[in-house]
Amino acid sequence: MLKNKTAVVTGGTRGIGLAIVRKYLENGANVAVAGSRKESVDKALAQLNEYGERVMGIWPDLCSPAAVAEAFVSVKERFGSLDILANNAGISSRTSLYDYTLEEFSTILDLNLKAVFVCSQAAARIMKAQGGGVIISTSSMVGEYGQPSGCGYPATKFAVNGMTKSLARELAKDNIRVNAVAPGVAKTDMLAALPQEMIDRVSAGIPLGRPGEPVDIANAYLYLASDMASYVTGIVLRVDGAAMT
Ligand code: NAD
Repeated sequence: MLKNKTAVVTGGTRGIGLAIVRKYLENGANVAVAGSRKESVDKALAQLNEYGERVMGIWPDLCSPAAVAEAFVSVKERFGSLDILANNAGISSRTSLYDYTLEEFSTILDLNLKAVFVCSQAAARIMKAQGGGVIISTSSMVGEYGQPSGCGYPATKFAVNGMTKSLARELAKDNIRVNAVAPGVAKTDMLAALPQEMIDRVSAGIPLGRPGEPVDIANAYLYLASDMASYVTGIVLRVDGAAMT
C-alpha cells in the first residue's frame, strides 16, 4: 500500500512507533526511524535487518527547527522524497496539579506539542515542494475526555487535535493531508509504567474487552498514510475499543 513512499516515524524505536515502522516497511515504504538517541535508534534498526537499505535512523532534537530540517532533508536525499510524517514521539504524566513544576509542564509541552509543530513545519516544506504528502500525529483518547491527574498530558493531546484540524485546512491546497490517531489503552512501555491497579481498572472498562496492541494502532496509521484515505483529512481517528476513561 505504500510502495515507493518514504516515511519518517518519530518515537519509532519502540512501542506504537516501532509497530508503525514495521507496518510501513511491510507495505513497501522506505522508513526513517527517528529516536532521541543514537543508541536506541541502533537497537531498533538491529531488529529491522530484513528490510536492508529501506530503513535508516535519525536522532535530531525534535524541538530544534534546524536539526529537524537537516535530518528530514537527509531522508529526502537518501530515498528521493518524504511522503509521510508520523508524529508519534510522546511522554505521559500522572503528576497532580499540586505537585506539578513548571519545568515538568514545559517538558511535556516540548515533546508532545512543540515537536509536532517543528516536525510538521519541516516536513510540510519538503512535501509542498514535491507536490504533496501526509502528516499523521498520535493523539490519545484523553485528548477527548481529559484525565484525573497529569493535566499536561491531555492538554498536549487536545492541542495536537487542534493543530491537526487547523493544518488540514491550511495545507489542503498543497495536497498535504493531516490527520491524527487517538489510541485508547495500548500495550507499550507507557502502559507498563502505570500502576497495575490502574491498568486493570481501565482494561475492565473497555467494551472490546482488551487493551489495544501496538499493531492495532499501526493499522490505522497505514490506512491514513495510504491512498485508501485520499479524501480523508482533518480527522482524529479513535482506535480505542470504544474505551471511555
Ligand atoms: P513508549 O514510551 O513505548 O514510546 C515513546 C517513544 O517516544 C519512544 O520511541 C521514545 O524513544 C520516544 N521519545 C521519548 N522521549 C523522546 C524525546 N525527548 N525525543 C524523541 N523521542 C522521544 O510509548 P508509546 O505508548 O508507544 O507512545 C507513543 C505515542 O502514543 C505517544 O505519543 C503517546 O502519547 C501515545 N499514546 C499511547 C497510549 C498507550 O496506551 N500506550 C495511549 C494513547 C496515546
